[in-house]
Amino acid sequence: MGAKILVVDDSRHMRDFFTDSVLRPAGYTVLTAPEGQAGLRLAREHHPDLIVADLQMPGLTGLQLKRELTRQGDTTPVILVTAEGSEQVASEATLAGISYYLPKPVDVEVMLAAIEQALTVERLRRERAEAVAALEKRVNQLETLQHIGRALTSLGDLERALLIVVEGALRLTEADAAALFLLEERGGQLQQRAARAPGEARAAAGRAPAADPLALHVARTGQALAHRPAPNAPPGLPPYPALAVPLRVNEHLLGVVVVDTRAGHKALPDSDLGPLTTLADTAAVAIANTRLFLELQVQSVTDGLTGLFNRRHTFVLAEREFQRARRFGRSLSALMFDIDHFKLVNDIYGHAAGDQVLAEVANRIRIGTRSIDIPGRYGGEEFVLLLPETELPGAVLLAERLRRRIAGQPITTVGGRLEVTVSLGVATSSAEVPDVNALVNQADANLYLAKKAGRNRVVPEPPRERA
Ligand code: GH3
Ligand code: MG
Ligand code: MG
Repeated sequence: MGAKILVVDDSRHMRDFFTDSVLRPAGYTVLTAPEGQAGLRLAREHHPDLIVADLQMPGLTGLQLKRELTRQGDTTPVILVTAEGSEQVASEATLAGISYYLPKPVDVEVMLAAIEQALTVERLRRERAEAVAALEKRVNQLETLQHIGRALTSLGDLERALLIVVEGALRLTEADAAALFLLEERGGQLQQRAARAPGEARAAAGRAPAADPLALHVARTGQALAHRPAPNAPPGLPPYPALAVPLRVNEHLLGVVVVDTRAGHKALPDSDLGPLTTLADTAAVAIANTRLFLELQVQSVTDGLTGLFNRRHTFVLAEREFQRARRFGRSLSALMFDIDHFKLVNDIYGHAAGDQVLAEVANRIRIGTRSIDIPGRYGGEEFVLLLPETELPGAVLLAERLRRRIAGQPITTVGGRLEVTVSLGVATSSAEVPDVNALVNQADANLYLAKKAGRNRVVPEPPRERA
């Protein structure tokens, strides 16, 4: 279809001449207006590719029409036609940005050449503006990706990483809402973990079951998705455009990022899918690394078999508690546990049964203590429990309770249900106890006494002078 041209002239004769003898025969589509204001209105409604305007008209002159368009940011080229031309009008027309200035009577060949040229100039201007805008957007996206990449390399805070990814997804695309979903490490359920809704200043963390059908779809297929709502789309899909990309490391799916335009319902260009995928790739590696880092952190302080603190970390925490108790004059007690005749369990029922006994004894110690208590695996079948803010009588009461909890119910193992008992030594810090090792050693010495006295018992008193 030829270009659309608006003719604004108060002479009906001239409008008909331009329309029927010049423009339509040359293949153009033509609109006409009898004066400037009507011309302005048609220009706003129909977006012609070019305007041919008379200079002298009632209301707005052709020059004023051009100036008004410019004021409104409308760059439609205007060709001015006039019978009353002058040097003065010519220079005003140039200043106003008029494309061509043609005297009446109009030379048809000259007019058609002027129109073609003005259209070409405008087309080139538009293409250049679009190319520059696309390039600027691309540069912005690359800068954003670089920025996010840097922000994501600081490990150790998964929640912060997720917020950065959501904010980044919104900055990279023309979307107005974004959400990040992660598969739970155990169970494989998809959960929403961070999101930013339209109008919110920042992304917020939180944990909720994923209700987003696109996120669930991408989690199922593992494929990126550009959703364009169609009039007869299947129900359940959102009525606005959205992009959803998987978070993947080495074909292993971690989650999904979804951006959409729920507020504006405007289109999301396909060209946004590339940068969003790059973001998701960077994010997936960062999320996997952060999880690994956090897991290693837990592992480095935990005993693998029992889940209690390992010996090294138990002493780090114990030392801290000892200093605190000393400085603030608070009490601190220590319990030492040793399973009675544990060697027999291994010898009779096997090492696997022995391990199950260790894990269950640790479990009964753990569920019987407060969150500020420090339970640790001291050695093979020996456990230590540090009790901040606890005097000797309280420590003995707890020791008795734990002893009874372990002895009171057999432990189920691969070798059957086994009766297990423990011996305990108790000690409390005082001015005579110089450091945390001395405190634990004293509890250990009392444990030795408990063994000597027949096992399955608690010995609380500090060793007296040997009788
Ligand atoms: P007592 O009543 O005097 O404490 O006798 P006991 O047999 O418990 O004492 P002993 O210290 O002689 O034995 C401890 C045993 O614990 C020796 C070792 O085989 C076993 N053991 C240590 N660590 C582990 C472990 O991680 N798993 C298993 N199954 N056994 C362990
Ligand atoms: Mg032992
Ligand atoms: Mg033992």
